[in-house]
Amino acid sequence: MSQVEKLLEANQAYAERFSQGELPIPPTKKIAVLTCMDARIDPLQALGAELGDIHVIRNAGGRVTEDTIRSLVISEQLLGTNEILVLHHTDCGMLTFKNEDLYDKVSQRLGPDSATAASKIDFLPFGDLEQSVRDDIKVLRDSPLIPKDVPIYGAIYDVHTGKITRLT
Ligand SMILES: [Zn+2]
Repeated sequence: MSQVEKLLEANQAYAERFSQGELPIPPTKKIAVLTCMDARIDPLQALGAELGDIHVIRNAGGRVTEDTIRSLVISEQLLGTNEILVLHHTDCGMLTFKNEDLYDKVSQRLGPDSATAASKIDFLPFGDLEQSVRDDIKVLRDSPLIPKDVPIYGAIYDVHTGKITRLT
């Protein structure tokens, strides 16, 4: 059995005890959190939130991309969120490589066509954790698609202590 098959099997037990099937679509706390896909972060637990409370938009690094903006516009305009938290974290994998490293890896492993495709992507790695949060907040602030009256907070989650430190 593959790992995915094991997880799907585990869902049987989850569904048997599931009792929150009547939650509304809009998140009750009206907050959208942008964070990393890192497997060590449980955003709901870390923020004392529950199912149905918040939107969590995740990608590698918790970076602001075109797709992040897409999700935020839907979150805000259609589903009523009015605050944003950009939450990056210590020991992030995005601190460990540069675009060129990943271009090389793709080239070696997947071949020249893939290398060409990869070379068009900025994978958005960063060298300074706090600056990455500030940079992403600036991109959001500068976007005409994010209302000026939406507060944007920045913070860092420590994967070793579970503690969140607010930056902005
Ligand atoms: Zn990360």
